[in-house]
Amino acid sequence: LISRKWRVNPTLIDLGDGVVIGEGNFSIMAGPCSIESERQIELVVEHLKANEVKVMRGGVFKPRSSPYAFRGLGIDGLKMFHRICRENGIKIITEVMQVSQIEDMVDYVDVFQVGARNSQNFNLLDALGEAQKPVLLKRGISGTLEELLQAAEYIFSNGNEKIMLCERGIRSYENAYRNVLDLNAVPVLKAKTHLPVIVDPSHGIGLRDHVEPMSLAAVMAGADGVIYETHQKPEEAFSDGQQTVNFQESERLIRRMRQAFELR
Ligand code: PEP
Ligand code: MN
Repeated sequence: LISRKWRVNPTLIDLGDGVVIGEGNFSIMAGPCSIESERQIELVVEHLKANEVKVMRGGVFKPRSSPYAFRGLGIDGLKMFHRICRENGIKIITEVMQVSQIEDMVDYVDVFQVGARNSQNFNLLDALGEAQKPVLLKRGISGTLEELLQAAEYIFSNGNEKIMLCERGIRSYENAYRNVLDLNAVPVLKAKTHLPVIVDPSHGIGLRDHVEPMSLAAVMAGADGVIYETHQKPEEAFSDGQQTVNFQESERLIRRMRQAFELR
């Protein structure tokens, strides 16, 4: 169902208020790795508004390698995130980690993110297929494109067609950077499926100084959008600070991605 053979026309995902994700548009989604405080949300919202970015990312349920690391503010954090974004006309994308969270979260999110670690959590995918909210589905940590497409098929075949695929880097033997951002995936996925393809350069390379060139490369590779991490003080972020750009860097990144999209 997600193949170009079955549907020729690209799928567009309408988040309301003129925010449409998919072919022909270039969507920018940005924000911290984790939602940390009311003040932080306000600062990020202000930065996004100043740059006409309409979708904010931020995790409240965080998959962390160590159980002792910060695991997110949970549902109360999401409600605070939602209140501030609503007041400012910003859409929310945030990660859902398990089926039981969907019901509590659904009224407070615009896009559910499925993280790399849950990319093949088939119960979660089935349940999101029944939820009437858009889903950003990340590629698994060592996931093939076929596995990503089949994961999307779970959601789609359960009745939810509002899916975007996200390349976020795959694990390799190389340890000079966090993951290998596989930009090959962009044109290949675009040829195979009618779904929007988004790139996450922050997790893809894991090094803040190199987020910009990889984002620009993603634009030129044909991505329908980019999702990246930004924070008022990346060095003090509760998670993923090493790959998070500050607002000044973010502003330049936004400007340059839009310029690159114009040239495409
Ligand atoms: C995130 O977006 O913060 C995240 C945990 O991403 P991923 O699932 O790609 O590691
Ligand atoms: Mn992160």
